[in-house]
Amino acid sequence: MHFQVGAVDLKYVTTRVRLDRDGFYLAVSNAYQRVAITDKIYLKNHRQISSQLETNIPKGAFKGATLDILFQGEGLEKLDDATRDRVLDFSEDFLDCDCDHNPYCGCPERKFIRYLLELRAEGLGPDAIVDVMSDDYMLYAYSGDILSFLDNGVRTLEAAEGLARVEGADDRSEEIREVKRDLAK
Ligand SMILES: [Zn+2]
Repeated sequence: MHFQVGAVDLKYVTTRVRLDRDGFYLAVSNAYQRVAITDKIYLKNHRQISSQLETNIPKGAFKGATLDILFQGEGLEKLDDATRDRVLDFSEDFLDCDCDHNPYCGCPERKFIRYLLELRAEGLGPDAIVDVMSDDYMLYAYSGDILSFLDNGVRTLEAAEGLARVEGADDRSEEIREVKRDLAK
């Protein structure tokens, strides 16, 4: 069976659900959006960081050059203490995998999306989520982008839940419903 809702290939979504929960999160995040939410996460003090590093890095936290220079580079000692602590926290929390292609393996984005969804599951709204990522990692996003990311996630889950039910995959349908409940809080 092959369902198509808007730009979303639901077969793809449910296939990913079967594979693993992390992959599913990524599928949810990308399904309705041409640009992934991780492309809309920015360094809060981008200008200061660039000047401390004495090189111009992109504003986007997940841009290749940012990951290379800021989070994996040798510029750490050039940063002030507060910034360095946050940068190290980000590296430890999101860039710690052993993949050959680290940090281009997709794990950092996947882990960050899970972080967003966990904040949502704790009951935080888009504004609060932006506040927390700012405190935790000195990152920011527009709360409108976070809101549409969460909305799109719920819509994708509703469609996937319906498909799972049609296919008779009741446990899958129940699992999706649980994730949706967290997201829609
Ligand atoms: Zn990885």
